Amino acid sequence: MTTYDLVVVGGGAGGFGAALAGSRLGLRTLLVEKAPRLGGTAVWGGVNSWEMCAGATGVPFDLYCRMARRPHAIGVTTLGRHLTYYRADREPYRYPGAEWLIDRARTYADSLHRCGTRGMAADEAKVRAQWHGVSFEPETMAEVMAAMLAEAGCTVRLGVGFADAAHLAGHIQALGLTDGAMVTARTVVDATADDVVCRAVGCEVLIGRDDKAAWAEQGAPETATDELNGVSQLFRVTRSADDMIEPLPAGVDAKCWWRAGFPAVHVVQYPNGDLSLNMLPTMEGREWYRLGARAAAAECQRRVWAQWHWLQSSCAEFRGFLMSWIAPALGVRESYRIRAEYQLTEADLRAGLSRQQHEDIIAMADHPPDTHGVSAGGIGELREPYGVPYRCLVPRGWRNLLVASRGAGFSTIAASSCRLTRAMMQLGQAAGTAAWVAAQTNHDAAACPTAALRERLRHDGVQLEWPPSDALRARMAVPAGP
Ligand SMILES: Cc1cc2nc3c(=O)[nH]c(=O)nc-3n(C[C@H](O)[C@H](O)[C@H](O)COP(=O)(O)OP(=O)(O)OC[C@H]3O[C@@H](n4cnc5c(N)ncnc54)[C@H](O)[C@@H]3O)c2cc1C
Repeated sequence: MTTYDLVVVGGGAGGFGAALAGSRLGLRTLLVEKAPRLGGTAVWGGVNSWEMCAGATGVPFDLYCRMARRPHAIGVTTLGRHLTYYRADREPYRYPGAEWLIDRARTYADSLHRCGTRGMAADEAKVRAQWHGVSFEPETMAEVMAAMLAEAGCTVRLGVGFADAAHLAGHIQALGLTDGAMVTARTVVDATADDVVCRAVGCEVLIGRDDKAAWAEQGAPETATDELNGVSQLFRVTRSADDMIEPLPAGVDAKCWWRAGFPAVHVVQYPNGDLSLNMLPTMEGREWYRLGARAAAAECQRRVWAQWHWLQSSCAEFRGFLMSWIAPALGVRESYRIRAEYQLTEADLRAGLSRQQHEDIIAMADHPPDTHGVSAGGIGELREPYGVPYRCLVPRGWRNLLVASRGAGFSTIAASSCRLTRAMMQLGQAAGTAAWVAAQTNHDAAACPTAALRERLRHDGVQLEWPPSDALRARMAVPAGP
């Protein structure tokens, strides 16, 4: 049995943030990831973009800076064409979704602000000026994450998953791993996105649409349902000298068979000029849940080919590209969420940082609640960022277990807003830092003194106030290069 200060299960966005923060602060840290690479959804799921997101000034900024030193690794994006903004006098056809293009005039600071517009349809000029994402090369990100963790002294075990746990009275005593090893830790972070550790030890979890009564949310349905945000299988296309429509694989129909018409696509240019295509969505969430992982993956792959064939057939510009990669993992937007010591809800999103009363805010976000462009809860774009309290990371009644992933303590509506990759990295940074503060002050992680936690997060570059100061904006004004 090996003993650590911190064990992080899952090496996606949240797990990376937690393991990096903990090991940088000197905690003896183990990160186990069942896939052969780090990066989770952003790498295996091919989600190669960080949407604009307030507050991503800690670990995500460090990762950006490291990536920016490598050629064609990362870039800031600007909105190109969008189906909402179709101009019949200038465009041969309505663009089949949204197009985000690398914009070398922009810096990281430009990617840190979404809130404050009246939405896409009402506010084109402001949206175009203010909204900038980040696009990156997933394989390079996995490599850079591994290098940063190694430098921080973190032990990383790839291809090793969580198997089971021994626990007593809300305390995880030991973890069993899929390679047969047993480990113990003062603090355990479940960053599996599906609350794998939490469910194994019997934490209370939620799945599906919460009803109005659950958290007194005015935008929630009267009755709970089994609906889940959609699943997308992302694919990559690479420019080619041929001008052709790729043949459909055997057994794939040219017509859309799973809904009335082909879904819109979110297209993000890779730093090397390739395109990442993200169907909105490839499969409804509950269909994915009902089919199970293997059957859902096979069906999604057929839909990907059908969609690509349709895009090439209906938009001439795509004939200059060939399919070069289909992400090995499905992009799952929503599954289990923990019942936490505090559940982030619609009320927090509506109140925003200036009116929230919590003393334990450890991260912020400003994406609107969204289920494929349909505003969840009818909230629309947010006026200002909202804060995420530390208690959202603490499963109710547990002492040394934290959740740093999209499976944290969110209502359905809040989850559809907060789930962005960089927000998850910030939750991870808070969890890893909390493990350190708790150890320093001889507390369980659940009882971590949050004033000290917030002080340390600020010290490590995390933005907890809005708007950002001029000094912070200047520090973030790092271009992508070379
Ligand atoms: C299709 C799609 C498009 C999106 N688009 C955007 C976007 O444009 N911009 C944006 O910012 N966000 C976007 N998001 C949201 C964002 O990508 C995810 O919410 C975020 O990456 C989730 O991070 P995470 O750390 O919670 O989980 P993940 O990154 O999925 O990490 C979980 C990790 O846990 C590992 N794991 C699971 N079980 C075990 C186990 N038993 N043992 C060990 N390891 C385990 C997994 O292999 C995985 O690596 C999108 C999401 C999807 C699905």
